[in-house]
Amino acid sequence: MTTILLTPDRLGSRSIAILLALLLSVISFAAHASEDLHMVPVPLEDRIKAADIIVEGEVVAQRSFWDARQELIYTAHTVRLFKVFKGELKERQVEVITDGGTVGLAMHTVSSALQLKKGQQGMFFLSKGAPTGIIASAASIITQPYASRQGFVRYDVERGTATDPFNQYKSVQEVYQTVTSRMGRQYRTVVTNSRLESGIKAQLQQQSTQATQAPNVSGFSPTRTSAGTGAVLTITGTGFGTTRGNGFVEFPNADDGGTTLVRPYASDYISWTNTQIRVLVPSYTQTGGTAGTGRIKVTTNDGSSGTSDGSLIIEFAYSNVVAEGGNTPFQPVLIDANRNGGYTIQFAPSLQSRSAAQEGFRRAINNWVCTTNVNWNVGATTTTESSADDGRSVIRFASPAVTGQSVLARTISKYRGCVSISGTQRDTIFWLTEFDMEINSTIPWQYGPGGPGANQYDFETVILHELGHAHQLGHVIMPNTLMHYNIGRQKQIRDLTAPDIAGANLVLNRSLNPPVCGGQSPMKPKLDGDCNLASEIFTFDASFTNAGDVNVIWTTSAEQGIARFVVQRSQDGQQWEDVGEVPASGQARDYTFIDNEPLPRRSYYRLRVLYTNNSEAFSGRVQVVNPSDLRIFKVYPNPFGVTTNANGTSGETLRIEYLVRSSSDLSLQLYDLQGRLVRDLEATVTDGTEVIEINVADLASGTYVLRWSEGNNSGATKVVKVQ
Ligand SMILES: [Zn+2]
Repeated sequence: MTTILLTPDRLGSRSIAILLALLLSVISFAAHASEDLHMVPVPLEDRIKAADIIVEGEVVAQRSFWDARQELIYTAHTVRLFKVFKGELKERQVEVITDGGTVGLAMHTVSSALQLKKGQQGMFFLSKGAPTGIIASAASIITQPYASRQGFVRYDVERGTATDPFNQYKSVQEVYQTVTSRMGRQYRTVVTNSRLESGIKAQLQQQSTQATQAPNVSGFSPTRTSAGTGAVLTITGTGFGTTRGNGFVEFPNADDGGTTLVRPYASDYISWTNTQIRVLVPSYTQTGGTAGTGRIKVTTNDGSSGTSDGSLIIEFAYSNVVAEGGNTPFQPVLIDANRNGGYTIQFAPSLQSRSAAQEGFRRAINNWVCTTNVNWNVGATTTTESSADDGRSVIRFASPAVTGQSVLARTISKYRGCVSISGTQRDTIFWLTEFDMEINSTIPWQYGPGGPGANQYDFETVILHELGHAHQLGHVIMPNTLMHYNIGRQKQIRDLTAPDIAGANLVLNRSLNPPVCGGQSPMKPKLDGDCNLASEIFTFDASFTNAGDVNVIWTTSAEQGIARFVVQRSQDGQQWEDVGEVPASGQARDYTFIDNEPLPRRSYYRLRVLYTNNSEAFSGRVQVVNPSDLRIFKVYPNPFGVTTNANGTSGETLRIEYLVRSSSDLSLQLYDLQGRLVRDLEATVTDGTEVIEINVADLASGTYVLRWSEGNNSGATKVVKVQ
């Protein structure tokens, strides 16, 4: 017996109701979203050689603007110069133009683009000239960072250290030395960098006194969390100081794998005492970058710091945006941008001419749509080779001059916003109007379906990752996860991983209500049946045989261009594995496939239909329940207790598994040895029941008896609570 899978429950569940705005107003402000990295490392040597200008400087001003054709937003930064290492410069400042920024209520963010903050210092590797479409003023030297984010080696002026996306430098002197020895000459000082010099001095003084004052980070809770979702982290320890003052918490930067650290905005701190800090885990930070997995560092008001022994695991990040002039990160939502429920994606001519790339892209998009129900459609092709802010989501190949040297691909998210005011409450709301994707045309791509060779990059993996950005996910530090910040040669992740799915589902959930201002309609998630279905599959079913195998049967109505059928199986309905292949016959007929090694409990089957032109589509999926697991009562862990279980879950919860064919009531009673009833509950169980959890944190250690009954079945199990 099989069951057609119903629409997931989350479609019915709603995020917290949003406060109704009493008064709407539109206020001009600027904003930008979290940066990220998706690139190939460029050694410092190469950057020294390729850059026209190398200088040490500080960002003293910035402004965002539209290009002459009103297509893209850029940000111009005025950089005051301290030292010149390369390039003949008479000026005391240069203008550095970066991709993205905010003008009024319009915002563009570009994955992999360099983002600079006012007050930041570092070594800039610059190319002369402005991006196409920008009218440069004659007053100043206009430059762009060489190799996007790798064109800036950021200083920590308080510590005298430096970092770039792939490297950490113990001291700024180390950077000076590398550059001057490669240049074969000393740098020229424009003006003394007094902030850096006093920082280095203070650091030396502090190192001699730090031992007695250092704070101790003894623990944190929870140990697994997410960034940019409003999740709160509680850090415990001693010596944090009674107030925060100039103190801060730091997380590893997910955009560079933790080479640098990121600091939350002031608004992210909830409380700070000598022994406990409560802070929101940020995906958009004061320093730039996203909080990622790793140790947590606390620095107190007097500058001494301590690091946790254990690592906080951050499973996914929701890309947040921040209004310029404001400092509260906000979660942008997906909307019904195409009046057909979501977003229409169009292939530019550069993609139309590469059919293998189109097929790879379609596979990646199907993967997302079929898993999260995000409403993305591939629409008619376009004749425009452009990433303009024009209400269209265009996918195209572009030269490294556009994407940035060494960047594999980048996604440009475009937002609009509004401000809603209700009494003294002021909310800024952003939504995604479109996204464009630019794929580096000079990368040795493997478009699939074959795997990447030693020097190749897997196209489908990179597109799946970039679509994750379009889904508003940021980077994580978890090497086998799709949204890991860096994808190397030959790396292949063509299936969504559990953390990405959890993050994307959360974004979609928050997008189910219309933004409170701006007159936008919310995204309408696709139904399960809407994702890339093979029209040729007339019926599809799977069921257990008496012998304990699974019999998979299907009927085709017509078979134009089908090469073969791949039977796929999944324990959770999200991660699929191939279990067998059947060649196509070329005509309408019935097929059978036997799976001799079915999975335990509940599992799913579907068909992957492969066409002779390398495209693919799927059948609907069906659920089967292993009869050997029906009406089997399982309780774990046993013994249970305060210690953490082997699987990392808390021992304060008793977990019960019980599957039936359709639906039934399971009653549970827990007695202590004196016969006193300490828990009494009733649960509805089905063939799709997840684990039933009983909180037992308050029970004393000792032996208990767990009685259960369902229909004519009942039993009792001894369970033991240990310290
Ligand atoms: Zn990325």
